[in-house]
Amino acid sequence: MKNFGFKISASRQLDMDTIQSDLYEKLIQLEPTAKRCLMCGACAATCTAAEINGFNFRYCHLLMKRGILDNLAKELSKCMLCGKCYMVCPREINTRSIILKMKALMTETTPKHYSL
Ligand code: SF4
Ligand code: SF4
Repeated sequence: MKNFGFKISASRQLDMDTIQSDLYEKLIQLEPTAKRCLMCGACAATCTAAEINGFNFRYCHLLMKRGILDNLAKELSKCMLCGKCYMVCPREINTRSIILKMKALMTETTPKHYSL
């Protein structure tokens, strides 16, 4: 096969009609500020834990929004709950509260995914 210097990546398309969104809807009810997230990444860029263990709030938020729960509990356990992300968020989203609520939802409703 001719080498064009690039290759086609596997599709990462999501079918939004079939994703598991019930947990995210519960999260929105518990912490409505989550809806305001622009996914700008300011929280991830300033995160205390990111330097140490690669934690990324935006990534965790997207995982729950898309219903991809397999590694979410493990990722959430990396947050140090310092609250710095809340101070830098341009939309005043209560990120620390969202992280705590995501952890609680994972424990209560999907214990099989809560294996650290
Ligand atoms: S800084 Fe705020 S708006 Fe930006 S990705 Fe983080 S939570 Fe969302
Ligand atoms: S509360 Fe968690 S996500 Fe926010 S800056 Fe601290 S370690 Fe990072």
